Amino acid sequence: MSDVSIEAQRRRTFAIISHPDAGKTTLTEKLLLFGGAIQMAGSVKGRKAARHATSDWMALEKERGISVTSSVMQFPYEGRIVNLLDTPGHADFGEDTYRVLTAVDSALMVIDVAKGVEERTIKLMEVCRLRDTPIMTFINKLDREGKPPIDLLDEVESVLGIQCAPITSPIGMGQRLKGVVHLITGEVHLYEQGRNFTRQDSTIFASLEDPALEARIGTDMLQELRDELELVQGASHPFDPAAYLAGRQTPVFFGSAVNNFGVQLLLDFFVDHAPPPRPRATTGREIAPYEPQLSGFVFKIQANMDPQHRDRVAFMRICSGKFSAGMKAFHARTGKEVKLANALTFMASDREIAESAWPGDVIGIHNHGTISIGDSFTEGEMLAFTGIPNFAPELFRRARLRDPLKLKQLQKGLAQLSEEGATQFFRPLMSNDLVLGAVGMLQFDVVAYRLKDEYGVDASFEQVNVATARWIRCPDAKKLEEFRDKNAMNLSLDAAGQLVYLAPTRVNLQLAQERSPGVEFLATREHA
Ligand code: GDP
Repeated sequence: MSDVSIEAQRRRTFAIISHPDAGKTTLTEKLLLFGGAIQMAGSVKGRKAARHATSDWMALEKERGISVTSSVMQFPYEGRIVNLLDTPGHADFGEDTYRVLTAVDSALMVIDVAKGVEERTIKLMEVCRLRDTPIMTFINKLDREGKPPIDLLDEVESVLGIQCAPITSPIGMGQRLKGVVHLITGEVHLYEQGRNFTRQDSTIFASLEDPALEARIGTDMLQELRDELELVQGASHPFDPAAYLAGRQTPVFFGSAVNNFGVQLLLDFFVDHAPPPRPRATTGREIAPYEPQLSGFVFKIQANMDPQHRDRVAFMRICSGKFSAGMKAFHARTGKEVKLANALTFMASDREIAESAWPGDVIGIHNHGTISIGDSFTEGEMLAFTGIPNFAPELFRRARLRDPLKLKQLQKGLAQLSEEGATQFFRPLMSNDLVLGAVGMLQFDVVAYRLKDEYGVDASFEQVNVATARWIRCPDAKKLEEFRDKNAMNLSLDAAGQLVYLAPTRVNLQLAQERSPGVEFLATREHA
């Protein structure tokens, strides 16, 4: 096997998806603890605490250092290299989350034992389903009273439409929590409080039949457990690796992240069964991870991590080959060769200069606005990875400047911040307005704050009569020109110079579509 194959096989690149407060941050912390990336849980905590309030979140975003180190967290575990990609935590579900999910090979879903399947989980699950992403499930907060395990499994199956294969099953819950049984090994892991900051090799019994277990938890509890297990196993599916990899079945674990209980069982199973990097589709051929030549795509951009230098870091997911420090790569969209100097890796949740990186890894490339989300890099082959769309924003505001002399800075700021992908920037053909589109309301506050903080521009956002946006495509140049003339009032250019129809109402959009046969109105724009 080549080095590339060996390294690719060791990689596990994933993201955690959950409804806010289910325990994503806490679980991340514990995973890092097992990976030796942090000594004491806590480093993720500060970030999280600040994330709750909008203002705090923005103050935190100012401390670029923190937010970049937590964007990608890499740690070794049992001979594997785990890459955990953070999904944006703020309240708005955005396309940035979607794009992070295009860069992973699997996902971990966290569910609150008391709340069950919640609204955001449903939405994220839909996104995972688009690519049949394999998903493992961690049912968290077992130290609290929650729904019976059997009901939770049923809820996941019926609401999320995915088969459940419990790998662990709880013994008691809340006050009565005693531990979990591993349904494959038969081992019983007892729950002990106060072990939450250490690696926990909890008291383990070989099986339910172990007499020491009965002595420990009592005959009644043991009987209760046997009955419950029978129920759970009767109502669920045995683990089927192929069904898991196809995204049809989810292995389910129970535990308590904050108590560090059940987490190691999850992680052990995860590194054994979660998929390494898989082949990826491009505009040309499919690219296999073990191919010797480097390829990758950019799924996220973060601007002004160092406000002194106005630089932007592009996060590239490596899909094949080996990256070596200083190597040259071919930027497929511009056709130019770029030197990948000073690329960052995210080992041990620290920014470091990357010496080498492999399929499944993420590197951060400094640039000054030449790289966009969705861009592909190769060693010369002309191709682009597909499936990284820009969604039509649903909310629109016109930027209003307090000091008209700052128009240039405003334009620049809006354009650069929209490169990050959370907002989109439109310039109407017929006016000097600057229109910003976003998927969530919070984005406008964030942009206003950052314009001031990073560009010294005092701007506010006001209502504008736009209900929705559609990217225009028409292969017939003459028809396109006609369309442009007739609809100039409603047309804008986006940051990339593409033509976009900004419809004041849905009805207007429908009419415009009916009146323009041969012109396509696209709700997403594929990057590339
Ligand atoms: P996130 O919003 O999904 O990142 O959730 P957090 O990890 O911040 O957790 C939300 C809240 O639930 C915090 O107050 C945690 O301390 C708490 N929490 C997390 N895991 C557990 C658990 O296993 N048991 C209990 N009782 N609380 C937990």
